Amino acid sequence: MTATRVLVLNSGSSSLKYQLLDMRDSSRLATGLVERIGERTSRLKHTALTTGATRETTGPVTDHAAALKAVAEELGRDGLGLDSPELAAIGHRVVHGGSSFTEPAIVDDAVLAEIERLVPLAPLHNPANLTGIRTARSLRPDLPQVAVFDTAFHTTMPESAARYAIDVSTADEYRIRRYGFHGTSHAYVSRETAKLLGKAPQDVNVIVLHLGNGASASAVRGGRCVDTSMGLTPLEGLVMGTRSGDVDPAVILHLARVGGMSTDETDTLLNKKSGLIGLCGDNDMREIRRRVDEGDEQARLAFDIYIHRLKKYIGAYYAVLGRVDAIAFTAGVGENAAAVREAALAGLEELGLAVDAGLNAARGDGARIVSPEGARVTVAVVPTDEELEIATQTYALVGASHDLT
Ligand code: AMP
Repeated sequence: MTATRVLVLNSGSSSLKYQLLDMRDSSRLATGLVERIGERTSRLKHTALTTGATRETTGPVTDHAAALKAVAEELGRDGLGLDSPELAAIGHRVVHGGSSFTEPAIVDDAVLAEIERLVPLAPLHNPANLTGIRTARSLRPDLPQVAVFDTAFHTTMPESAARYAIDVSTADEYRIRRYGFHGTSHAYVSRETAKLLGKAPQDVNVIVLHLGNGASASAVRGGRCVDTSMGLTPLEGLVMGTRSGDVDPAVILHLARVGGMSTDETDTLLNKKSGLIGLCGDNDMREIRRRVDEGDEQARLAFDIYIHRLKKYIGAYYAVLGRVDAIAFTAGVGENAAAVREAALAGLEELGLAVDAGLNAARGDGARIVSPEGARVTVAVVPTDEELEIATQTYALVGASHDLT
């Protein structure tokens, strides 16, 4: 029997998301989520897409190891357990791969040690990712585990884009550089956009706008990332749901000197209490648009600041690329908020950028073009699928190194 299934695990600080895919046709067999790990009211929601059965359980799940064991049990109840000979590998989303990981890696002790060494760069995420990998390894020691890094796609950035203009020896000592995140999404969406244009990825230049609760832009030349808006951490760049994006770094110094704010307080302010929520009290674009439509000035200003920043990045990446074949909008806001797409490109007709009002307003599944017929730059809505990308990269790597038949 050929092993064609890949389990994708995405371990957050207090959550574990999973999907089981069959790589013969990229179909989903099961999907689910364990939330509030470490609390008394943890919740596991599991859906077997093979039968349509959905089960929900609440109760304490003490840690990620317990969460993964519970997931394994749920999968087992649907005949999809981790002991199945059809399972080819487990693919793990790992947030920070630093400069070391330019591609996905089959997990061994050296890979684990390197992910551990990168913990100071992603103190919340990498430890959770490591726990997920270690637990999965203990449950199936014989099964290949693959780490797929959020940063890997961006390691092709030239030094001119990846370096901050700060003292080189200080930057190198503390590994301070622009790493970028959401890499699996940018990789997947830029490739899918090329497909939509009927071209090979190496033949197109694309600006990808990943606009979810976290948001980032990337400039992709011929399939390789040449710039992206997130930096050392996911805080840099666009205005996000709760993150400020770009601020003058001296804001932080000012808050410390004048406001007496601690490092942790500033961290919380900029990562959790800024962006859209800081500007207007809501981080859901649907709610913000509803308020804008009702004439709410605070929501209007938040929307305008969000759009102004987005437009600046579109212009910047247009200049970085020189020639742009397509702009792809993706993730929760990018895929669903027609008003954001329209406002972000308004007034950019001279650059060959525009949306067709009818196409932009129409709803639809799958990748679709929303620019007018014959436009110089194709504007597209391209749904992202990070789990499929992780599964695809995992399966390709495992297939290349093992005989799966
Ligand atoms: P993500 O992080 O990709 O899951 O995106 C989540 C965000 O997408 C939410 O916080 C909303 O702001 C936004 N979103 C989801 N659905 C819609 C919609 N129909 N219209 C506008 N924004 C949406």
